[in-house]
Parts: sequence; structure tokens; C-alpha cells
Amino acid sequence: MDCIFCKIVAHELPATTIYEDEQCLAFLDIHPVQIGHVLVIPKIHAETLPELDELALLPTARLVKLMSQAIIRGLLADGCTVSQNNGRAAGQVVPHVHFHVIPRYASDDLHAWPNQKYASSENKEEVAKKIREYVRPLGI
Ligand code: 5GP
Ligand code: ZN
Repeated sequence: MDCIFCKIVAHELPATTIYEDEQCLAFLDIHPVQIGHVLVIPKIHAETLPELDELALLPTARLVKLMSQAIIRGLLADGCTVSQNNGRAAGQVVPHVHFHVIPRYASDDLHAWPNQKYASSENKEEVAKKIREYVRPLGI
């Protein structure tokens, strides 16, 4: 498959690995937003989070937490940002699901996202209803 992250998993492309087990991998981002920016991926190929098998997500999510702790402790960061893009519109460039774990410092210059306002409380409820229609109880 022509996927750069699958090639990293298969050791066909180099990466600076932080952690690896049978199900997932953490490695340094090649163009870090901040020094120490880590990517966490499931080894199994899925393009986006909505398509990822839940059983593959669980160890990946655990590794995201572990990387958050390791970044804060190892790099003496004040915090970290975890971000995850799905689809081109969201800024996803590599079509293999991945979580960014980015060290943050009180003095850093990474800007927060802008805020929007709901038009009314009815509008807010309509939006919530549209999302709820596609929520089913978790089978885990
Ligand atoms: P996205 O925009 O898809 O959420 O993020 C993709 C990330 O993958 C980017 O931050 C980019 O720097 C990183 N990246 C792209 N190609 C490679 C690569 O070959 N090796 C590594 N380590 N990171 C990569
Ligand atoms: Zn892949």
C-alpha cells in the first residue's frame, strides 16, 4: 500500500521511534510544530479516526496518554496539545490515522483557535440533535 506511515511501520522508511509494540507506534514528526512533537499511530491502516477499529483505538489512545506524560516529564514542558485531523478539510495530509502530541510551554507562541457563538439557544439545541441522531451506545 502506498502509505508513508505504513512504510514507517514496515521499516521501509526511517523514523525516530519513541515507542513501539505490536499494535501501535510513536515517532517524532519530521516537521515539528514544536521540538519533541510526537505522532502516535495504530499499526493497522485506517485513513481516519471514524474508520478505525475500536480495538485498535484502545492501545493507540493509551499510547497517546503515555506520550503526553513522557513529553511533559522528559522535556519539562508545561503541558501538551493532542490534536488529530480527519479529512483534507481538517488539514489531514497523511491518510493514515494519527494523533499529534505537541509539547507546550507557558511562553510559547502557538495561537489558540478562534471561538464562534451559537445564533440562539434553539440553534444550539438543533446542532446537538443532529449529532445525537448518529450516536449509539458504545458496545465496549
Ligand atoms: P496531518 O496534517 O496529516 O495531521 O499531519 C501529518 C504529519 O505528518 C505532519 O505533521 C508531517 O510533518 C508529518 N509527516 C509527514 N511525512 C512524514 C514522514 O515521512 N516522517 C515523519 N516522521 N513525519 C511525517
Ligand atoms: Zn497506512
